[in-house]
Amino acid sequence: MELDFGPAVRDFREELRDWLADHLVGEFAEHRGVGGPTDGAAWEVRLAWDRELSAGGWLGVGWPREYGGRGLGLLEEIVFEYEYARANAPYRATGNALDLLGPMLLKVGGEEQKKRFLPPILAVEELWGQGFSEPGAGSDLASVRTRAERDGEAWVVSGQKVWTSFGMHADWLYVLARTDPDSVRHMGLTMLLLPTDQPGVEIRPIRNLAGQDEFAEVFLSDARTDAGMVVGEVGQGWRTAMATLGIERGTTLLPQQLTFEREAESLIELARERGALDDPMLRRRIVDAWISVRVMRTTNLRTLAELTAGRTPGAQATTAKLYASTRHQRLGHLVQELAGPAGQIVGADYGLDTRQRSFLLSLAETIYGGSSEIQRNIIGEQILGLPKEPRP
Ligand SMILES: Cc1cc2nc3c(=O)[nH]c(=O)nc-3n(C[C@H](O)[C@H](O)[C@H](O)COP(=O)(O)OP(=O)(O)OC[C@H]3O[C@@H](n4cnc5c(N)ncnc54)[C@H](O)[C@@H]3O)c2cc1C
Repeated sequence: MELDFGPAVRDFREELRDWLADHLVGEFAEHRGVGGPTDGAAWEVRLAWDRELSAGGWLGVGWPREYGGRGLGLLEEIVFEYEYARANAPYRATGNALDLLGPMLLKVGGEEQKKRFLPPILAVEELWGQGFSEPGAGSDLASVRTRAERDGEAWVVSGQKVWTSFGMHADWLYVLARTDPDSVRHMGLTMLLLPTDQPGVEIRPIRNLAGQDEFAEVFLSDARTDAGMVVGEVGQGWRTAMATLGIERGTTLLPQQLTFEREAESLIELARERGALDDPMLRRRIVDAWISVRVMRTTNLRTLAELTAGRTPGAQATTAKLYASTRHQRLGHLVQELAGPAGQIVGADYGLDTRQRSFLLSLAETIYGGSSEIQRNIIGEQILGLPKEPRP
């Protein structure tokens, strides 16, 4: 996939390409393409790579200079993500803070919070986890039960969070908690920044299908944080959370899309090796998989084009997640089918190859970031204008 972003960003692109050629070497080059938004593989190498990027000034390309960013525009951000994915560099370990928390603070955080937290994110000195989901609050996030009470100049937080990606590495959590005990649903929630290094925070890893301790459950028992650690207004945490979830995914989908393209190419290679291209039924499914990744690319480019033109992205931006996650799973199933029994054999200590790993991790893609059923509800109600589902 080659894209020409025009003369305005040519120097920037050349500088980045040169930098990647010089720095994506040795151990970093050996880990090309390793990791993902929910894949903690080679964590330490990826952290070291993030620090390398930080030293080169490549983290926070679009963030303002006063917080350690490069202060460039959306087009440069897109070029960065595209060139980064094209070089197949390791997936950034600090992705959560870079893609979600940082933009949230930039959008709704106070000045003190921006000054305090954004530079250490870009310097890879502090890692973050997202504490939204609870055992009884996932799709129905408004059912959050974790409580926070004011005690002098502090908030005291108790409750349980779950599925916190890379929670065991987190120095800080951004937690959605109920600060008005009499409130229900969306009302009375507050977004709090909470340090994990204290007795009231216990983080237990959960093993995922790929055999990794990738996410965690978090137990908060009278955990404390300063009164000033509220993002947005007290009682307006729902609005703050929606600001995070609504952060445009156009640029962050680029690396994922290029990964899927590579997987589709690898599928065709495998099909050739197995002589599967002679089978008309299989050939049809392989063509279908190839078309899917092309549709993802076109869809994504449409969204990016709208964003750079200053327009609100169209309906395709809303359907993209459902399409990409379901099609990626379908592609993975086909790869596994073509691999035959060999696809089910794992190495020592549950060692998975790239294809197996990608297939297993793809199964979570229709859950996190809003499950497929929730995506369909959103498409039905917000795009097609169908009647709303009954709410409790
Ligand atoms: C790999 C991974 C990483 C994650 N990382 C994080 C993280 O870092 N931080 C965090 O806070 N959370 C994280 N999550 C949690 C994620 O946000 C939730 O799993 C997700 O929102 C679904 O919630 P749930 O698991 O409680 O399932 P539920 O909401 O209980 O859903 C169960 C099933 O019911 C369906 N369903 C629910 N409501 C409806 C409805 N109204 N209409 C139709 N069907 C419905 C769902 O689609 C699903 O099939 C992660 C999850 C995964 C899998």
